[in-house]
Amino acid sequence: MSFLEYAPAPESKAILNLRESYGLFIDGEFAGGGGTPFQTISPSDESVIATVSAADEADIDRAVAAARRAYDKVWSKMSGRDRGKYLFRIARLVQERARELAVAESLDNGKPIKESRDVDVPLVAAWFFYYAGWADKLDHAGLGANPRSLGVAGQVIPWNFPLLMLAWKIAPALAAGNTVVLKPAETTPLSALLFAEILQQADLPPGVVNIVTGAGAAGAALVRHPDVDKVAFTGSTGVGRDIAKAVAGTHKKVTLELGGKAANIVFDDAPLEQAVEGIVNGIFFNQGHVCCAGSRLLVQESIHDEVIDRLKSRLSTLRLGDPLDKNTDIGAINSAAQLDRIRELSAIGEQEGAERWSADCVIPDKGFWFAPTIFTGVEASHRIAREEVFGPVLSVLTFRTPAEAIAKANNTPYGLSAGIWTDKGSRILAVADKLRAGVIWANTFNRFDPSSPFGGYKESGYGREGGRHGLAAYLKPASRSLSEPKASRNAETKRSTAKGARA
Ligand code: NAD
Repeated sequence: MSFLEYAPAPESKAILNLRESYGLFIDGEFAGGGGTPFQTISPSDESVIATVSAADEADIDRAVAAARRAYDKVWSKMSGRDRGKYLFRIARLVQERARELAVAESLDNGKPIKESRDVDVPLVAAWFFYYAGWADKLDHAGLGANPRSLGVAGQVIPWNFPLLMLAWKIAPALAAGNTVVLKPAETTPLSALLFAEILQQADLPPGVVNIVTGAGAAGAALVRHPDVDKVAFTGSTGVGRDIAKAVAGTHKKVTLELGGKAANIVFDDAPLEQAVEGIVNGIFFNQGHVCCAGSRLLVQESIHDEVIDRLKSRLSTLRLGDPLDKNTDIGAINSAAQLDRIRELSAIGEQEGAERWSADCVIPDKGFWFAPTIFTGVEASHRIAREEVFGPVLSVLTFRTPAEAIAKANNTPYGLSAGIWTDKGSRILAVADKLRAGVIWANTFNRFDPSSPFGGYKESGYGREGGRHGLAAYLKPASRSLSEPKASRNAETKRSTAKGARA
């Protein structure tokens, strides 16, 4: 079979106006940090993009103090309506600078421009628009009349959706009246720093959002800071566990969005062409660096061979290469460390007896790359069926009955998402009801909407982001419960006196 050849169609980097080095964004200004600066590189060719400051404990302290001042003096006193105006303004600026943000994200993360342009950045704007609408309607968040904000939120995010995870964290926190210190992942700080410029453009009062760059130690210092009232973390289950221990017994409210090993279940009556697209989207979107990726394909035994044949021929058409090329389907793996992990777990998959097939792609000389890969003959006990590979690797298992599919799908320490492909609505409802996963897609996969809550069971964490539930995670009821510490400094009850924001 021969395929159409595509001429290169790279998105221009000329739209970027990057600085050579970036400081921490504290109290509305960029300034150097006390840690050793580090370089952020493009994973597609290992070239240096910029030098970035690293926050030490004193910087974290300064950032939290700035957030506290902004909370006490400005943000908690401002009316919800005026907070909403700032959020609307941020959303519009994200739209205005969408192309630049998409190019920066693809450059720093390695994801294809068609994903950052058509998925990540539009969703970022949608998240801010959605929560802007909530800012003056907190009485309807499900916590009774006049709910109060929590105070200063310390937020730590991963590298797989750098700007989108930032939006998931910052938008509800601000809408609810909290101020923020956010730490992006060390391999993808760029879009958060451009976002800080957007906050300056939006005239957001200094200190309402602070961005501190650095490695795990900066995140650890942030979540442990005694003046942080709310911890919101997205990342690996191991770090989530460490954070849960660190904040246990303190007054801090916590949400943890952790890993996943989702089952994508395909029944024999499913529309196969659509199911194959859904399987591809489920695991090869964003190189499989997706917490809710459909990394375990559970396919009914009678259609196994047909599904695998169709899948292989579809994967053979995917184009791997320059993330900035508009034709690229599979971009670069985010880091050398992540590539090592994918390689290691794939080698273990072969050693444990699963059969490996990889699409025949030309792998570029420089950068971090991994061809889309399928393992068939996988057993539930194999490590590639149990552990998060977090890469473009699909583990295929089979089942005969719905009961077996449900048992296998739930046989995981995680519980973030799942997919069901079938022609029968009644089967979708019956199976979904028995799956222990926070999000279940039917005849589709990896769909996100700001109004829809997202989060997991078991080792996938606790708490929900998105929708009313995501807002409630940043609020508490007006009446104080007996177990709540007196030191709470919430001043939300005095709101609606501050100066209005321009719309
Ligand atoms: P990671 O846990 O290594 O790092 C996440 C963030 O935590 C980074 O900013 C890192 O610097 C910081 N960090 C590291 N050690 C820390 C510590 N001891 N204390 C505080 N912060 C610390 O995860 P990662 O490799 O960047 O991201 C991949 C993981 O994120 C995967 O497991 C994936 O499933 C998960 N994830 C989950 C969701 C979700 O919504 N459930 C979304 C995206 C990614």
